Amino acid sequence: MTEETFVGNRIVINEFNQVLNTRSIFAIRDVASYISKENPKGFPMLATVEQQYGKQLPNNSINLIKEKALQSFAYKDKGTMATTDRRKPVVNLTNW
Ligand SMILES: Cc1cc2nc3c(=O)[nH]c(=O)nc-3n(C[C@H](O)[C@H](O)[C@H](O)COP(=O)(O)OP(=O)(O)OC[C@H]3O[C@@H](n4cnc5c(N)ncnc54)[C@H](O)[C@@H]3O)c2cc1C
Repeated sequence: MTEETFVGNRIVINEFNQVLNTRSIFAIRDVASYISKENPKGFPMLATVEQQYGKQLPNNSINLIKEKALQSFAYKDKGTMATTDRRKPVVNLTNW
């Protein structure tokens, strides 16, 4: 891997979760960052983003093996949840 493979300490991936300039090496979730014109800083390191990566990766792995077209990552913002205390969750559902 070269220096341009990393942004900060995250691995740069393309819209198909492939590590930059590779075909069959995938990276997802907090270790990876998909930078695009729409998202120049990449997606935030949040559970909702990571869950959606987790659903896409198996499909793309299978598609690669079967030589089918890979699916681009399309993030759907479902809101954000955080806990401020053991019994105090805070939820932002502005996009519902
Ligand atoms: C303190 C804190 C609070 C957060 N709060 C929120 C929140 O309120 N809402 C929200 O949406 N997101 C929150 N996040 C972010 C969210 O937790 C992460 O985005 C998400 O968990 C990332 O998933 P991941 O699979 O990349 O990493 P992780 O969930 O960290 O999973 C990585 C796994 O790999 C294992 N691992 C590490 N090294 C090795 C190794 N060498 N060999 C084998 N296994 C290994 C670890 O034990 C761990 O189980 C928070 C994160 C932190 C740190």
